[in-house]
Amino acid sequence: MRVRFAPSPTGFLHVGNARTAIVNYLVAKKNRATMVLRIEDTDMERSTRESEESIYRDLAWLGIFWDEGPDRGGPYGPYRQSERFDIYRKYTEQLISQGNAYRCYCTKEELESTKKGAGGEAESYTYSGRCRNLTDAERKKFEAEGRTPTVRFRVPDNEPVVVRDMIKGPVEFNSSNIGGDFIIIRSDGVPVFNYIVIIDDALMKISLVIRGDDHLSNTPKQLLVARALGLPEPEYAHLPLIMGPDRSKLSKRHGITSVEMYRSQGYLPEALMNYMAMLGWASESGEEILPLETIIDQIDLKKLSKNAPIFDFQKLRWMNGMYLREYPIERLIDLFIPHITMAGYDTSAASRRHLTEIIAVLRTKCELLSDISSLIGIFLDDVAEPDEDADAMLRGEDSKKVITAAHDLFRGELTADNFAAGLVARVKDVTGLKGKNLFMPLRAIITGRQKGPELDQSMPLIGYEKCRKRVEYCHDRYCR
Ligand code: GLU
Repeated sequence: MRVRFAPSPTGFLHVGNARTAIVNYLVAKKNRATMVLRIEDTDMERSTRESEESIYRDLAWLGIFWDEGPDRGGPYGPYRQSERFDIYRKYTEQLISQGNAYRCYCTKEELESTKKGAGGEAESYTYSGRCRNLTDAERKKFEAEGRTPTVRFRVPDNEPVVVRDMIKGPVEFNSSNIGGDFIIIRSDGVPVFNYIVIIDDALMKISLVIRGDDHLSNTPKQLLVARALGLPEPEYAHLPLIMGPDRSKLSKRHGITSVEMYRSQGYLPEALMNYMAMLGWASESGEEILPLETIIDQIDLKKLSKNAPIFDFQKLRWMNGMYLREYPIERLIDLFIPHITMAGYDTSAASRRHLTEIIAVLRTKCELLSDISSLIGIFLDDVAEPDEDADAMLRGEDSKKVITAAHDLFRGELTADNFAAGLVARVKDVTGLKGKNLFMPLRAIITGRQKGPELDQSMPLIGYEKCRKRVEYCHDRYCR
């Protein structure tokens, strides 16, 4: 089996495309198939090498690797469509000489006016066929007028075309309803993607084409080209497109849609991979967090839902948090450090060991790596400025008792050696407060907030000096 992922390098890798890549990858792994990466860069204006590079980077980050591609070579290259124009030219000549394609001299304006005349939308528009049967003389006349032709594929009348689709089952089209003779070469000589895709799929010996649902309507055209050229017809799996929570096509207004952004916001590739790999099906056990090997073992295109999966941003966040909890701590530290630095902290001032201990406590409070930016201050700031809720509480009478007691204790018996264990116990003795009335103010004094890591875990990591300063600060602020 040979599969391929065929992105157009016209921007960042969108999660919808990433999902197509992921499914290709999983199916390839499961079947020990070869995965080809083909760059579809015939849209010269919008395609860039930077985008191509970013696609490689994003795929590699997700852990997707391919066997053949522009960067790796392979027996069926080149793997960039822009480098294959000579190949396509031969097939175009073949189609023209067989009578399966012809030069069309209609100008844009002429086509527009017939479109308007027919009252049709671009989508449902069918070419009139005006240039289908030009005589040599007519052709010469047009050329003398300086018209540069497009090349159109001559769509046969009333021919059934069946797409063999592993997800949808056989999908039947009739050639008479696919929009008429379609352009395969534009007037500037650039071939249209819908034409060359099938040539490449055939020449690259792709046996299964896994791609988005949005390409299903292209498929009958591609199959007609294959037939005319005597090329093999691959099998297909058209993935239902991912929808946003409101069931409209997933877009930026729903949330992050580029893989690059997921990376920079602090998602882990394993979590994104796990979440996206399982869109549209469920594991045998119903578990949602699964090792990649299990996903590969269990994925089955035939069992994929025919309905569009909904992208659940909350669930992905949650899943990322679960991955953060289980991740090897050493790797996690290197991933957290840039987020801590971005929040304005100099991580080189803290020892690796200290950071490790802090992160071991904080990782359970984070769903994303970037969540650490609002939490790290608890450990690294000198003063923990109470937030609004903490401030309101610290103004209460019981809180003042706690602050005063803590203040006295830090001036007296508490030392660097005994403060972490001693503070809570001794404030309790002195004030007679207990439970929430004791813990909540203490937590607010030490961490500046009501929720967060446990005091007994965090105090030793914050350290004696900072804890003392924070108590002092609250005493100045609330008890004078
Ligand atoms: N280049 C196309 C795209 O990025 C994919 C074509 C295909 O998979 O057949 O949408």
